[in-house]
Amino acid sequence: MSTAHTSTGRAPGSHVVVIGGGISGLAAAHRLLGGGARVTVLEASGRLGGKLRAGGIAGVPVDLGAESMLARRPEAVELARAVGLGDRLQPPTTATAALWTRGALRPMPKGHVMGVPGDLDLLAASGVVSPEGMARISEDETLERTEVGADVAVGAYVAARLGREVVDRLVEPLLGGVYAGDAYRISMRAAVPQLFEAARAERSLIEGVRGIQARTAARAAAESGQAPAPVFMGIDGGVGTLPGAVADAVRAAGGTIRTGTPVRELRRTADGWRVVLDGGDGPAALDADAVVLATPAPAAARLLAAEAPAAATELSAVEYASMALVTMAFRRADVAAALSGSGFLVPPVDGRKIKASTFVSNKWGWIADADPDLFVLRTSVGRYGDEADLARDDADLVELSLRDLGEAVGLAARPVAQQVTRWDGGLPQYPVGHLDRVARIRAEAGKLPGLRVCGALYDGVGIPACIASARTAADDILDTLPQAAAPAE
Ligand SMILES: Cc1cc2nc3c(=O)[nH]c(=O)nc-3n(C[C@H](O)[C@H](O)[C@H](O)COP(=O)(O)OP(=O)(O)OC[C@H]3O[C@@H](n4cnc5c(N)ncnc54)[C@H](O)[C@@H]3O)c2cc1C
Repeated sequence: MSTAHTSTGRAPGSHVVVIGGGISGLAAAHRLLGGGARVTVLEASGRLGGKLRAGGIAGVPVDLGAESMLARRPEAVELARAVGLGDRLQPPTTATAALWTRGALRPMPKGHVMGVPGDLDLLAASGVVSPEGMARISEDETLERTEVGADVAVGAYVAARLGREVVDRLVEPLLGGVYAGDAYRISMRAAVPQLFEAARAERSLIEGVRGIQARTAARAAAESGQAPAPVFMGIDGGVGTLPGAVADAVRAAGGTIRTGTPVRELRRTADGWRVVLDGGDGPAALDADAVVLATPAPAAARLLAAEAPAAATELSAVEYASMALVTMAFRRADVAAALSGSGFLVPPVDGRKIKASTFVSNKWGWIADADPDLFVLRTSVGRYGDEADLARDDADLVELSLRDLGEAVGLAARPVAQQVTRWDGGLPQYPVGHLDRVARIRAEAGKLPGLRVCGALYDGVGIPACIASARTAADDILDTLPQAAAPAE
């Protein structure tokens, strides 16, 4: 059990090495320094931030990776504020999203929990589900209870209650937006825990969803008087500027950050750890009292193979989805009439090439303001089990995106600039049983004194969940470091 550390109280000599300079590793370093440790961050690539990446297109700053932070939980906005980005936090300017399905662009029906409807009238009016699909949904009222056991795939459970159409046209694209995964594999317990709890408590899934919504509404009513908090936040300049700001704070607090420094091996020593580096200009190994391992699973598996082989085996079994983002800038005059709202999702069942398109100039005020004559959007291609199109070259990915955009929203213009960003192994998958696997990894790794793991594969892929896992890892490590001697009176 970790305790919060907000002030120094550790022996100043204790050295913690953080492996991985994504948001998880940087957040862990920030927390460790706040707790009084001496910290070195080692990042394999030449760039900090991992899946957070600020870039630009046609002179407009944009995110080329993650672009939005859940603000309903506190960790990401708290970290942004702590490193001086509080003034730059910006909610999306529109939350109006659509689904491109059954041959038309249709409004995303309101009143759902991860695509599972609570309001059947709104769903019917949206046209997302066929009349036969709507009829199947109403069977939920009379069907016997569907047991969920210790865990169940979201798709399997929802299809059993409401039929496959809801899964294929609503749940799948929404879950895909988070995991780039397959709803029929993804763990309900891990990915949508409130639905899992509802499924255990209620016979009817629709009633369960209505219960979740009633509780949310009651919370909102209790908080009335305060302005409703935005569900998501971006950062002026891009969420991709967060890692740089955290890194600046880490350096300002005395931490060391080395990029272009892959860690090759981790060895226990008599009183700590030897961290063996692959090349680089500095020493070939560093000694540490403790280590935070904040890399994706393949690297974590390699690094733990010698000292925690059982954890390494579990880590090797974690699968990842790859995807590509196609970011394009258009002359606003050529496109703006066709593009309203924040964009649209595309259910894989419709057989299109793109999985989603985000109209970033509509979604983020800071992007629209950067060049009012340009309109920037992005599409995504590829998800778990559907990665063949990623073998195409960049020009092909642009063309197939334009073809789909033409059909979906009538976009006929050519972009003035385009950029393809490939995220190979971008998102860890959370299949049924993932939480048990994570527990086994933590149990095995935790047997080694002074070692903790954190990152996207453990407690959720979203930025706040990554930061939360980093905080927990850092706090646990701080608990193991020797206390500083009490200052003399
Ligand atoms: C395309 C895309 C869009 C996304 N959009 C969103 C979004 O809008 N909102 C959201 O909340 N989340 C989003 N996510 C998820 C989120 O961005 C990631 O889950 C999160 O950033 C992962 O952070 P991390 O630090 O755990 O891992 P990573 O970002 O993967 O960082 C791990 C780091 O470890 C380094 N490393 C690996 N091996 C070694 C080694 N041997 N030695 C040293 N360093 C090593 C890597 O180079 C990397 O920099 C998105 C993800 C992707 C791929």
